[in-house]
Amino acid sequence: MICEACRQPLGEGQCPECRALASEMAANAEALEALRYEEMDPLQIRIPSRRPNYAWLAAAAVVLMAILLPRPWEKREPAPPPTLAVSEPLKIKMLTPDPTVVIYWLTDPKEEQR
Ligand SMILES: [Zn+2]
Repeated sequence: MICEACRQPLGEGQCPECRALASEMAANAEALEALRYEEMDPLQIRIPSRRPNYAWLAAAAVVLMAILLPRPWEKREPAPPPTLAVSEPLKIKMLTPDPTVVIYWLTDPKEEQR
């Protein structure tokens, strides 16, 4: 790039902008040179073990068993009997061993509710 003030390559002219840029570049080079001898902490890399963690597997199994196994100390209330909402008579056909005998059982829902 050419400096607009002195028409020289940027940083190589004698104008204030070029001298400022040249001074900044020299300071950067000095800082980089100082970093060359900087001592850094050695890298510490931990490689995870390839063995499965059996403690975690055992803990997961215990939790699953606690969730899935029945608890005898907890009393379960019996489920309420199923209710049938029937508005029309219910007809139940019962077959008997004798093919000539068929039993029909008719229920009247209005009578059951009394
Ligand atoms: Zn210049």
